[in-house]
Amino acid sequence: MPSYAYFQKKIMPLEEAKIGIMTHSFHYGTAIFEGIRGNWNDEQQQTYIFRLKEHFKRLVNGCKVLMIDLPHSVDEMCELTVELVSKCGFKEDIYIRPVAYTSSQALGVRLHNLEHDFFMFVIPWGPYLDVDKARCCVSSWHRPEDNVIPPQIKAAGIYINNALAKTEAQSGGYDEAIMLAPDGHISEGSGENIFLVTDGQLVTPAVTNNILMGITRNTVIELAEKELGIETIHRSIDRCELYTADECFLTGTAAHVTPVSEIDDRKIGTGEVGKVTARLRDLYVKVIRGDHPEYMHWCTPVYNK
Ligand code: PMP
Repeated sequence: MPSYAYFQKKIMPLEEAKIGIMTHSFHYGTAIFEGIRGNWNDEQQQTYIFRLKEHFKRLVNGCKVLMIDLPHSVDEMCELTVELVSKCGFKEDIYIRPVAYTSSQALGVRLHNLEHDFFMFVIPWGPYLDVDKARCCVSSWHRPEDNVIPPQIKAAGIYINNALAKTEAQSGGYDEAIMLAPDGHISEGSGENIFLVTDGQLVTPAVTNNILMGITRNTVIELAEKELGIETIHRSIDRCELYTADECFLTGTAAHVTPVSEIDDRKIGTGEVGKVTARLRDLYVKVIRGDHPEYMHWCTPVYNK
């Protein structure tokens, strides 16, 4: 099935959307991107895009930091996304990749005096961490400080850090890396936030622990509180706390809620999927597929019925 892109203000076949080799952002990583999921509901024959507006708000924040002028408002980008996804017509889970970037055909390390553009494309994409339970290791690669490259924005260039960590982890036989902040506290996975369940409470690194403020993280915090009556504590977490937690899981748009069974060859809890993790994972799956009436405000339907 062909896919389409929104590129240079037009919807076109994905293979026709091409940029030149001198494109500024390709050389310096000066692009802000998002990863958004459309979740297929077979019974309803509908695709629901999850928390669309929140993703574009985060994109806008990233563009502020990189001084990228976006040619569209958040509402326009939301409308364009629905149009593009509808045009693609996939009847399976999809992933939407919007990118705002320095589009000048010019060299020179800077953020100023450059042209900007925005594109977006859609691909079918199943589970990202394709395992029931992930085996993780603490990476030798640290997350950068906010005043090195801000981890709170999804800037393309910072993902060198994530790629180094992910490949190190997979070369060592693990599924995912858990990165530390420069001060040695736990930060996040290479494409996910991390949660621990300790003494019936959820614990997750705070904004000051060099994390991306995940939309799935925010979703899980709200679901835990409203549906399970479980509070989340945001604080610095020591490495050793990972090993002694009752449960651990990762959250991300691509990875959903993925239980962690082992970290650095130590079993987390019993090594099986924990009770709280399982409840949150099952709730999350219902919510993102448009199967939970309380949370339909987070789901944008694509197809007119
Ligand atoms: N941290 C990093 C480094 C990520 O790339 C992602 C994926 N966007 C996340 C956390 C999770 O964020 P979200 O739940 O918004 O996808």
